[in-house]
Amino acid sequence: MRILAILYKGGNAATSEPRLLGTVENQVRLIENLDYLKQTYSSFPYSSVSESKEGPDSDFQKHIVDAEILITTPFHPGYLTGDLIAKAKNLKLCVTAGVGSDHIDLNTAVKHGIQVLEVSGSNVVSVAEHVVMSILLLVRNFVPAHEMIERGDWMVSDIARNAFDLEGKVVGTIGAGRIGYRVLQRLLPFDCKELLYYDYAPLPEAAGKAVNARRVEDLKDFVSQCDVITVNCPLHEGTLGLVNAELLKHFKKGAWLVNTARGAICDKDAVAAALASGHLNGYAGDVWNVQPAPKDHVLRTAKNTLGGGNGMVPHYSGTTLDAQTRYASGTKSIIENYLSGKAQEPQNIIVGVGKYESKAYGQR
Ligand code: NAD
Repeated sequence: MRILAILYKGGNAATSEPRLLGTVENQVRLIENLDYLKQTYSSFPYSSVSESKEGPDSDFQKHIVDAEILITTPFHPGYLTGDLIAKAKNLKLCVTAGVGSDHIDLNTAVKHGIQVLEVSGSNVVSVAEHVVMSILLLVRNFVPAHEMIERGDWMVSDIARNAFDLEGKVVGTIGAGRIGYRVLQRLLPFDCKELLYYDYAPLPEAAGKAVNARRVEDLKDFVSQCDVITVNCPLHEGTLGLVNAELLKHFKKGAWLVNTARGAICDKDAVAAALASGHLNGYAGDVWNVQPAPKDHVLRTAKNTLGGGNGMVPHYSGTTLDAQTRYASGTKSIIENYLSGKAQEPQNIIVGVGKYESKAYGQR
């Protein structure tokens, strides 16, 4: 039996910072966990941990053929396609160390009886904080202001001409699950004009009232009312390319868009074009349609008409050191439960044996 873990390379940072658990070097505390598990379970597996994930010669593709458990993270996704699943004859369990399992072909996993679990809730506060920060940095025109300071320049009007208050703006979230709801909670003290959400699952009445949020059922109607839109739904067939050129036409002119959910939910070229035309005033987030993003990815440098409006960073909002502690311990529990035959925590099961258990990956 083999456990295969595809994690991101930590380099010098991981050597000097042992709390970087999501790295190949520190292995989601895998070694420590495996030692413990080896003592407990005599038939305990051989394990491989690697960052190498692309192409037929990668460790991912070489070892997936006999792995029984696959551990991946959304930050350096090992893309488990239908073709790879067909080759993975022993695969029984995929564990996402973090939240968001779209890098796995979930429909094919269902067909092959492969379970997919993630550590639900482990980094939702981390992401919600990043969303609020990103909204503020776009609305207040922070990035060009800081760049000006680094350049040694000082021209207040060049920044102030595109700086606004969040107070009095309409902010809406696409997806009001764990992260979307936490964003709404955190925005409440900013005295926005209104908080809106678009989600096929309405919030429980008391939860909606607690954040004073109004549900809008039609997506075009929703985006046309928002000054700021934040994307907080999973990537699945129903959300792939959801924010595209057609939907962007219905955005208010000068709106700001924050996407920390998944890159492929927003069409990168349509977003870049909307920034260049001035229809969008800003785009920020940490997720990319391919990760790592190629050096020439359009969203690394896309700018609004004033040369600002880009708040893109690498995928790290959900991998703060605090979040890593939580998802490492959740990963260990999931593997222990699997090996000991104990029931998994229901909220962690995205795909159970032969069926979706989560309602968040599309209306089925
Ligand atoms: P969640 O399951 O608690 O909530 C997701 C919500 O999205 C649900 O309420 C669901 O009904 C809704 N939804 C699904 N499809 C929708 C659609 N077509 N339109 C509108 N709403 C829809 O998940 P969560 O913990 O809030 O995480 C959401 C997503 O955020 C994850 O799936 C992941 O892709 C992303 N995420 C990113 C990071 C990061 O580091 N950037 C970290 C964690 C999660």
